[in-house]
Amino acid sequence: MQEPFDLFGFQLNEQIYQYSDSSNDGLFQNNNQNIDAISEQDNALILNQIESPPPQKEDIDVVRILNFEEVKVFIDELICPICSYILIDPRICSDCSQGFCKQCLTQWFNKYHLKSCPCCRSISNEPDDGSKAPKLLFKLLSKLKISCKYQNNGCKQAIWYESKEKHYEKECEYKAIICQYCFEIFLKMESETHFEKCQYKPKKCKWCSKSFSYYKHQKHQDDCSPRKLTCPICVQEFSIKKMEGHIQFCFPKKQLKIIKNELQESIQEVQKAKQEIKESIKEILEIDMFIRKQKQKCQKKKQLDEILNNEIINSFEQPVCQQKDVDPQELNQEQVDFQEHHLQQQIKDASIQIQEFGEEQKINNICQEEAEFQN
Ligand SMILES: [Zn+2]
Ligand SMILES: [Zn+2]
Ligand SMILES: [Zn+2]
Ligand SMILES: [Zn+2]
Ligand SMILES: [Zn+2]
Ligand SMILES: [Zn+2]
Repeated sequence: MQEPFDLFGFQLNEQIYQYSDSSNDGLFQNNNQNIDAISEQDNALILNQIESPPPQKEDIDVVRILNFEEVKVFIDELICPICSYILIDPRICSDCSQGFCKQCLTQWFNKYHLKSCPCCRSISNEPDDGSKAPKLLFKLLSKLKISCKYQNNGCKQAIWYESKEKHYEKECEYKAIICQYCFEIFLKMESETHFEKCQYKPKKCKWCSKSFSYYKHQKHQDDCSPRKLTCPICVQEFSIKKMEGHIQFCFPKKQLKIIKNELQESIQEVQKAKQEIKESIKEILEIDMFIRKQKQKCQKKKQLDEILNNEIINSFEQPVCQQKDVDPQELNQEQVDFQEHHLQQQIKDASIQIQEFGEEQKINNICQEEAEFQN
């Protein structure tokens, strides 16, 4: 008995086929190989590598035919009995002339290990993918005007059956794209915007300008030989290789410089203190000198006072002594006048000296006040 047409089984297999072909694992390995290969190429080239998964057979439902009225007479000839969609890459059964999609027929033969026509069940010696379709079938297919397979994404374009591949590959901006770096899906028109913000795209090393995958970039940065490091002590740049040797030399040098600066500061402080002491000694000597002068002045004044006192006493005592020796009545007028004049002169001298002494005293007081004020 022949097996019934197992549409469910076929679709299931097809899904498995799609899955194994576009699983993340497979893509990821592919990506790594690609990125290694492009590590020295620029971003423009990388952008071209954003690709959609391998093309699957397109399922064109009859409802997508835009000129149905024109083609409805022969539309049955253009439908594959295996997938129920419009023929893609048509093949035929040489016995019943039924058309099939090439992919559908190949899978059918593989599934049942028998080259039996799904329609007439005849077993033939045809090639594994059926017989070549006649030109007429291609001509009928070329009459179809269909909507774009990305119409759900927004494409409003009406396309001829023959030029659909060209439209999908080159023209349609609504084509779904999967980023090979982050696996995000977006429209073709968004690919440039996506690439700009894609976090997993290859990055250029800023030291050697080579591009590396997101995963290898960081590791490369750590040991990229042209990379420069900044010495934390002297802020000069050195390559990674030279830095270790430099630090061993730069650190003690810096320490020495610090100690030298500290020593210099200490020396300056000592010199400053020395200068201050010198100035203090000078001031003390000046005060001492002033006190000595004052003392000398005081002694001189004392001597003057004594002389003055003695002279006053003498001047009063002298006439008394003379009175004892001479009789006052014997003194003539001339002598009296002389005595009187002599006394007046002495009183005048004494009052001048007293006045001078008073002024000197005043000056001394002022000097003393000034000295006290300065102290
Ligand atoms: Zn088919
Ligand atoms: Zn057949
Ligand atoms: Zn389109
Ligand atoms: Zn991405
Ligand atoms: Zn580098
Ligand atoms: Zn340094």
